[in-house]
Order: sequence, then structure tokens, then C-alpha cells
Amino acid sequence: MIAAPRVLDRRLGVIAGDPEPLRALEDRLEAFAAAFADAPVDERDEVAATRTYVARLADAELLRHVVPARWGGASPQLQTTALCLVRQWLARSSGALDSAFVMQGLGSYAVTLGGRDALRDALLPEVVAGRRICAFALTEPEAGSDVAAMRTTAIPQPGGGVRLHGEKCFISNAPCADSYVVFARERDAGDGGKPRYGAFWLPGDAPGLTVEPVHVIAPHPIGTVRFDGVEIPEAHRLGAPGDGLKLAFSTLDVFRISVGGAALGFADRALAEAIAHLQRRVQFGKPLAQQQGLRFAIAEVAADHVAAQMLVYRAAALRDQGQARPEDSALAKLQATESAQRVIDRAVQCLGGLGVTVGSPTERLYREIRALRIYEGTSEIQKLVIARALFEG
Ligand SMILES: Cc1cc2nc3c(=O)[nH]c(=O)nc-3n(C[C@H](O)[C@H](O)[C@H](O)COP(=O)(O)OP(=O)(O)OC[C@H]3O[C@@H](n4cnc5c(N)ncnc54)[C@H](O)[C@@H]3O)c2cc1C
Repeated sequence: MIAAPRVLDRRLGVIAGDPEPLRALEDRLEAFAAAFADAPVDERDEVAATRTYVARLADAELLRHVVPARWGGASPQLQTTALCLVRQWLARSSGALDSAFVMQGLGSYAVTLGGRDALRDALLPEVVAGRRICAFALTEPEAGSDVAAMRTTAIPQPGGGVRLHGEKCFISNAPCADSYVVFARERDAGDGGKPRYGAFWLPGDAPGLTVEPVHVIAPHPIGTVRFDGVEIPEAHRLGAPGDGLKLAFSTLDVFRISVGGAALGFADRALAEAIAHLQRRVQFGKPLAQQQGLRFAIAEVAADHVAAQMLVYRAAALRDQGQARPEDSALAKLQATESAQRVIDRAVQCLGGLGVTVGSPTERLYREIRALRIYEGTSEIQKLVIARALFEG
């Protein structure tokens, strides 16, 4: 793989409270990327690749960054800066590898925040060890950006606990998940009260749970999940009744910034590929890198890209200091994902026909970046959040 620069800029001194642990983490990520390049994985079987990636990430102790220290994690609380750094490095190598990493956190964080101790003690060390593959089930066919429109319902049972009925779609890891966090409506507005939502944990082999895989444009295990009377004991409720959306949004608040980290990684790789190609490729008697038009084209997207990096690590540092506002995460995700798309598109152009050849890194990046502008809040939803802060904040 073409070397991409290190992320932590020593000239800036710090990007967060204590840079030394982050620098040590970056050393490990550099070594992990080198080992990954020596032993690539066939991603055509998305489920097998995900299992391999989760095992490798656990062996390298990188999954310690998705749960707090009490259950084997690397720091007392999840550190958003570390999450971004890990994702930026992993995404340079593979989008499916990045996804295998982050889903362990996205799919377990509501348990970290709201699970009973017995559930947390049983599940979270298994997540760090890579023995449980996690999923986060929020989106539904009629409830995408408007999550409160969800129809999946948790019906209370006489002996306690609930039964779950409904359908979730676009659920990452569904074809291989051992562990689900699911959000459901508990009481309908029709009952006279405001709708109330709950959050629940359930195992992947729960009776009544079925999965139908779907395929998206880049390797990514994903599918539709149906719940047909799935029984959930009260011990597997997360938070109190009515806490469901609060837990969902608290999870997205942390992980949305890290989507920006992944976008930075894709853009790093695209820039490195474009620069190396322009230096190598001779047309009209000299390397393309000597054509001022192409030099300016790369300089423009590089400026866009460095600005994105500043916004992502600014939002992450603010979050780690307990000072982030929703618009900080929204600015970071919007700028990083949209600018990465521009960087990658320009890299494809610089490579000419090779840029769109199936199997080339730029062709893969072109497919991998697209979903990041959609999931965990589309670009339009990020603009709504930013505009709300500007006009009503
Ligand atoms: C690869 C991938 C992985 C995913 N993984 C998961 C997962 O693990 N768990 C999970 O729960 N979900 C997951 N999702 C679902 C994802 O979060 C949703 O696709 C996303 O929230 C958008 O919902 P939607 O697709 O229904 O689009 P819609 O909400 O129908 O939106 C369609 C378009 O309308 C725009 N729009 C909507 N409302 C407004 C508005 N008020 N103003 C302006 N524009 C608006 C949107 O921005 C978008 O462009 C995943 C999706 C993808 C593609």
C-alpha cells in the first residue's frame, strides 16, 4: 500500500488532553496497516471477511477502543479522538475493515450506557475479545431520517419483559450478528399519551428473529431484520422505559464524528494514489505531475481535506472534554464525508482509465465513500442540525 502520512501533527503539539497515548496508538495502527497489506482478505464473502477482521482487530487489541476500561477497554470512557484515529487508519486499507471495527462500538454502546450490570459484564468483554459481532437496529422501511416514525413495537408481557414485532432495514452486520441493540415503540400516540420508545438487547439467535441479506455497492454485510414476537426479558431492557431515543441519539452523537474519521482515511488513500500516479505517468514527454492544471487540482482538494481533518479532530477533542454541541459533530461529518467524495472523484480523474478499472484502489474508494454521506444522518440532516444552531441556537 502507498504510505499515507501520520495523522497526529507534532507541530500542533496536542489535539487532545494527553497526546502520548494517541501517539502510541498511531504507532500500533501503522504496524497494523503494514501487516494488513501483507495479508489481504478476500472481501467477496462479506460475512467471512467480517469475522476475520473482527478477530484480527481483537488480536491487535484495537477493539479495546470501543468499550470503557471497566470491561477491558483502553480508557475509562470511550475516547472519540482515539475512535477517529483508528477509523482513519483502517479506512486507508479497507472500508469493510473499518466497518467491522466501528460496528463493535456502535452496536454495543447503548449497552455500555444503559445495560444492567449483569448484561454489561457478560457482553462487553466478549465484544472486546471479538467473540460477539454487534449490530445496531434503528432504521425501518418507513423510518429513516425520521426515526420517531418507527413502527417496531415492544408489547409488555404479563410476567414482565416484552415481545418485539416489526422490521428494521439496512442493519449493518445483520447477516453475521450475535448481538443486537434494537429500538422500538412502546406506547402509541393513539393511547392518548406521547409516543414512547424503548431500547433492548437481544442475541442474534433469538427465536422469532430472521435476517434477509441485501447488497450495497461496496463490501459490507447488511440486511433486513424481522422480529416476529421475539421475547425479551426485562433484564435486557436498556435504560428506563422511554429512554430508547435518548440512548440511540447518545450513541450516534459519539459515532457520527468517527464517520468523519473514516472519510478522512478514504481521502488520505485517494490523495496518496493520485500523487503517486501523477509522478509516475508520463504524457506529452513529461510526468503528469509537472502539469500545473493537475498540480492545482490536487492542491485544491488537499486544502479541502486538511480543513476536514481539523473539523473532525476539533469535534472529537470537544466531545472528549465534554464540550461538544450537536452542530460540532454535524459540521465534522458533513465536511469530512462531502470533501472525501470530492477528493476521491478527483483522484479517479487523475488516474484516467485506470481510475475506474475494477479492482483498482480508486475504483474501490469511489464505491466505499458513498454510503458515508447517507448513514448515521444524511448530509441533509447534518445541515438541518447546523442551521438550527445558526438560526435558533
Ligand atoms: C451502508 C449503510 C449502512 C447502514 N447501517 C445502518 C445500521 O447499522 N443501523 C441502522 O439503524 N441504520 C443503518 N443504515 C440506515 C441509514 O442510517 C439510513 O439509510 C439513513 O438514516 C437515511 O434514511 P433513509 O435511507 O430512509 O432515507 P430517507 O430518510 O428516506 O431520506 C431520503 C433523502 O431525503 C433527504 N431528507 C430526509 N428528510 C429530510 C429533510 N427533513 N430535509 C431535507 N432532506 C431530507 C435525505 O437526506 C435523503 O437524501 C445504513 C445505511 C447504509 C446505506
